[in-house]
Amino acid sequence: MNSKQYAEVVVNAPLGKSLHYRIPDALSNQIKIGRRVKVPLGKRLVGGYCVGLTSCAPVVKEIKDVVEVQDGGLSLREGMLRLTQEISKHYLCPWGVAIEAVLPSPVKRGLKTKKTKALRLIKDKEAILTELALLKKRAPRQASALSALLEAGEGMALKELSQLSRCSPAGLQNLARRRLVEFYDLSPQETLWSGKPKSPPFILTSEQQKALDIIMTKLREGGFGVVLLQGVTGSGKTEVYLQAIQEAVTQGLGAIVLVPEVSLTPQTVERFQSRFDGVAVLHSYLSEAEHNSQWHAVAEGRAQVVIGARSAVFAPLERLGLIVVDEEHETTYKQENPPRYHARDVAIMRARQEGAVVVLGSATPSLESYFNALTGKYEGVTLTKRIGDRPLPRVEIVDMKGEFHVGRGTRLLSRRLEHYMKQSLSKGEQVILFLNRRGFSPFVSCPRCGFVLKCGRCDIALTYHKKDHIALCHYCHKDVSPPQDCPDCAGAKLNYFGLGTERIEEEIRRSFPEYKPIRMDSDTMRGRKSHEKAFRTFQKGEAQILIGTQMIAKGLDFPNVTLVGVISADTVLNLPDFRACERTFQLLAQVAGRAGRGPKGGRVVIQSFNPKQYAILAAAAHDYHGFAQRELEYRRALGYPPFGCMVRVLFRGRKEGAVREKALEMANTLKEMSGDNGQRIEVVGPAPAPISRIRNMSRWNLILKARSYAAITEALEKVSRNKTSKGVREIIDVDPYNML
Ligand code: ADP
Ligand code: ZN
Repeated sequence: MNSKQYAEVVVNAPLGKSLHYRIPDALSNQIKIGRRVKVPLGKRLVGGYCVGLTSCAPVVKEIKDVVEVQDGGLSLREGMLRLTQEISKHYLCPWGVAIEAVLPSPVKRGLKTKKTKALRLIKDKEAILTELALLKKRAPRQASALSALLEAGEGMALKELSQLSRCSPAGLQNLARRRLVEFYDLSPQETLWSGKPKSPPFILTSEQQKALDIIMTKLREGGFGVVLLQGVTGSGKTEVYLQAIQEAVTQGLGAIVLVPEVSLTPQTVERFQSRFDGVAVLHSYLSEAEHNSQWHAVAEGRAQVVIGARSAVFAPLERLGLIVVDEEHETTYKQENPPRYHARDVAIMRARQEGAVVVLGSATPSLESYFNALTGKYEGVTLTKRIGDRPLPRVEIVDMKGEFHVGRGTRLLSRRLEHYMKQSLSKGEQVILFLNRRGFSPFVSCPRCGFVLKCGRCDIALTYHKKDHIALCHYCHKDVSPPQDCPDCAGAKLNYFGLGTERIEEEIRRSFPEYKPIRMDSDTMRGRKSHEKAFRTFQKGEAQILIGTQMIAKGLDFPNVTLVGVISADTVLNLPDFRACERTFQLLAQVAGRAGRGPKGGRVVIQSFNPKQYAILAAAAHDYHGFAQRELEYRRALGYPPFGCMVRVLFRGRKEGAVREKALEMANTLKEMSGDNGQRIEVVGPAPAPISRIRNMSRWNLILKARSYAAITEALEKVSRNKTSKGVREIIDVDPYNML
């Protein structure tokens, strides 16, 4: 029997603190720290977590009873509670919100492991093809379901198949009646970690061995440590992770491998499963039942190795030895809704608490991690050579200022790129064309000389606001009215630049009618397996030209690709974000890594209006260190991370006036307070957000910079009592990756 009479409860509501409740006798056996409970809050009954037990009566007017303790064995360990508390403090979000992030929703709902209904072919390929021809006209959706199954080469979950083919359940029933397919039960374990045959580890190269030794030493010493493993793509980082994980597992410790969402492919998972038993996968694409069963496999100690995207950092491993963060520079590690955490940083928080080792891996580390390795906070180690000594591809930069179609403005494809495309394609080789379309906002530029309107104080491209006809700096709110003609070459009319993958595809179909392009972007890749399918089509050579956004920038290995064209290196470069150069460099380096994977070698063509820009030049020269030196100087001069800490406060509401007022009010209070605790806070703005209106909501930005996050968050805690007032909501984003 639990002798404590009161429970401290964190509820899932925007409250800054925990609440106390009395424990009725009937529940005193069940209640434990970390258990999920139901408690009254005002007139409602809300869910929450017990985070403490005490016998001291709290000083409150009226104390209410805990209503229910949920059993089912689901509870959060104390370590997890501490981690969520730290997250709540660092990212300035309610503790309850941080706790909610830790448990996947299928787990919270207590889903029992369910079997998934699936469908598979029971006739051979020839018979199916004959049927397909018949069905195509009469029942196109049934035909599409058949071809999807044929494509997949294995059974498919019902839900997924009907999503992909838009075939109704009745249609699928019909296929079964015609004895083309059969229904069966797909059990989650089967799909994910069957006892696959194991492959032995490689004999490491001397560089790999050195990297592994450093990690091993830390693992054997026990205790917290961070290693930054920098190695170009194909240099054998994953093999180092695998052998480090082996050591952790041998010691009886668990390991987590975080990979960016897009890299979490069956091939990646297989590499781990072919080395270890008990590999669990945590991924939001999993069906709820699968997610639930994987999570419990980890919680119950049946899986020691977890591989997953961002939220896998919270995997419920009992004894954690190692966390690997692959492609640690990836911005998708930052979660864009509350608690707005960065998985790499949370990995480090968790490892520090649990005495584990973190390995950060990347070809192009974030400036933050690179700087930490420079200053000795992390241990840095590099892999300089690709396995098999395959050379990096030759990169050429094409200056788009010279690329005009007479009377039709700038070409999409430079003459040089077009020439190389013809050359490669005619030899039966393949081409990748890359365009990052995320540069949503047109910026003011000169079509002839490439001049881009920038803020004199922030070195950030100004964004054109059509409504007011001004060009605005989104950091300091300085604005200028854009000149009619280019001030640099005093000739051409300025225009704004905007093109997308769709337009490229159209152009390719026109210029290269004899070849088949395949386009991959968020518009064309909706289904769960559409990635896989597109890649397979390309791999088999059924399409010769792959056009895509950052979705295609990484991880893939197509030996027959001898040419990679970057349609515009400028889209990210001109984003109103201090990380624009860093992201440009990373993206170009990664895209370039797609070329020359096979014995035929490869070539990369980068098209740009800024061919002398240092991020582009450095990427073309495969010179990370040169880039990093230069970029660090710039960051230091302006106090951006890693030299300063930055917090964004976004104000959002229907009435522009009220939004502005609230933003100004906070800015003024913070300016007055700045220096109170001996820590200066630089207040930049407020200014309208780059996207100043979304769904009829006005948005304003306030940027805060200081030497430490604590300085800013402490100040914010004092001023932002009312998260929503007068119809204006404030959203605090610590270390923001999205300034829009
Ligand atoms: P990265 O993760 O840095 O991109 P990988 O670990 O995927 O690199 O290695 C690239 C390729 O080289 C893979 O096919 C891998 O199996 C192979 N490889 C890695 N290490 C070795 C080694 N020591 N000897 C032989 N092949 C290796
Ligand atoms: Zn500015």
